[in-house]
Amino acid sequence: MPNQYEPVIGLEVHAEMQTRSKMFCSCAVVDNTVAEPNIAVCPVCAGMPGTLPVVNQRAVEYALRVALALGCEVNYTSIFARKNYFYPDLPKGYQISQYETPLAVNGQLTIKTSQGEKIIRVRRVHLEEDTGKLTHIDNGSLVDLNRAGVPLLEIVSEPDMRSVEEAKAYAEALREILRYLEVNSGDMEKGVIRFESNVSVRAAGTEEFNTRVEIKNLNSFRALERASAFEIERQSKVLAAGGTIEQETLGWNDVSEKTYSQRSKEDAHDYRYFPEPDLPLLVIEKDWVEQIRASLPELPRAKFQRFVKEYGLTEYAAGVLVAERAVADYFEAALKAKKVSAKSVANWIVGDLFAVANQAGETAANSQVQPEALAELVELVDGGVINQTTGKDVLIEMYQTGKPAGEIVEAKGLKQVSDVDFISKIVGETLAENPKEAASYKAGKTAVVNFLFGQAMKKAAGKANPTVVKAELERQLGL
Ligand code: ADP
Ligand code: MG
Ligand code: ZN
Repeated sequence: MPNQYEPVIGLEVHAEMQTRSKMFCSCAVVDNTVAEPNIAVCPVCAGMPGTLPVVNQRAVEYALRVALALGCEVNYTSIFARKNYFYPDLPKGYQISQYETPLAVNGQLTIKTSQGEKIIRVRRVHLEEDTGKLTHIDNGSLVDLNRAGVPLLEIVSEPDMRSVEEAKAYAEALREILRYLEVNSGDMEKGVIRFESNVSVRAAGTEEFNTRVEIKNLNSFRALERASAFEIERQSKVLAAGGTIEQETLGWNDVSEKTYSQRSKEDAHDYRYFPEPDLPLLVIEKDWVEQIRASLPELPRAKFQRFVKEYGLTEYAAGVLVAERAVADYFEAALKAKKVSAKSVANWIVGDLFAVANQAGETAANSQVQPEALAELVELVDGGVINQTTGKDVLIEMYQTGKPAGEIVEAKGLKQVSDVDFISKIVGETLAENPKEAASYKAGKTAVVNFLFGQAMKKAAGKANPTVVKAELERQLGL
């Protein structure tokens, strides 16, 4: 059965625009996971009668950054509309959103999958306001309006994804872009990005789309993946048994890992959209759009391609560096600081620096070790002043003490020894002390050379140049 049905997935992503103030009032946008409830609320976002909304220009700018980064066409005139429905977290009884004329349309996002790159079309990008938050307790529910009126960007894809992997890649790529654009922290656990997955399946090889379901409020990549996979499986079974899929809105239970019905098509909301009478048309000047376009940072995909091409990095290393803009910047700052090999610097960051920073509960980019300091270490290792193993120890010490690599090497006498006479003596002693191994090497057990190499390095307190040691070992063993 698995290959008989093909999934069709379209995603709606809600991302908070993390401006200083809210969408239509001057209340602060606060971190909901730490702020006291209802500390950032005023009559406007509490929906008091007689108050008037005012558009936050910065929120529009953030939204335009995203729209332009996704290659959308901007609607120079867009319309805010009221989306009417009742829910206790929505004090006005309607959400100000965009409906018929959204801020921007027809964009695209290129994703990377195991099958290569794929373009996912973006249907629309529009601005709206977030709702408040309900906490359900034993004898009622608590309402926190800190989040009510926070600028929210909705990004709607075309149903272009054909697997859970693609849906996840799209969601991740979008999160990466939002972070690059500095409009959203990407802190999924704080709920600043939420997904809705629209899922249908169709017989493999057919063109027509089937009825879809919409799974609401997925707050993590894991939930997005699991919920979508669950639906694909469920719908495939229904179709295989000759049944039909009902169009409905589903919720996702993270504990039981099952979707559940929230409402069917019959009781779908009629939102009675109409233009918001308290706001003028949103008219955007072309000059402003072009200014914003010109100020966009280099985006992850372009950076990735440049890192591979310009620096000859592996796709793996480039991918890891580019995933965080700060790490990519760190990498390039190290290269600027000294004339060192880009590949070496990349390897040190992706390998040891990540490991050391991770252990200290920090991120590589704002670690104790500055890019210049790492570059110095790389210079010492690549220049043969210290060997790779010593370099790793030095990095740990740099991390702990903040001292530069050169100083640590000097103070501890860690300079690597390449002197052939010295190494020749060490190797000679090693062979004399391990006659059995030396003999078995000569008898053809060549793997034992690794043991002898290790012993010789140990004897030299790790400071011997490994290349010279290897050569000398081979020479004395009569190769
Ligand atoms: P609405 O939620 O307002 O009814 P649309 O019908 O335009 O909006 O689609 C919402 C989302 O559902 C979009 O992301 C779209 O790509 C996706 N979608 C539409 N039809 C299907 C389908 N048959 N299967 C999977 N996803 C779909
Ligand atoms: Mg929808
Ligand atoms: Zn307010």
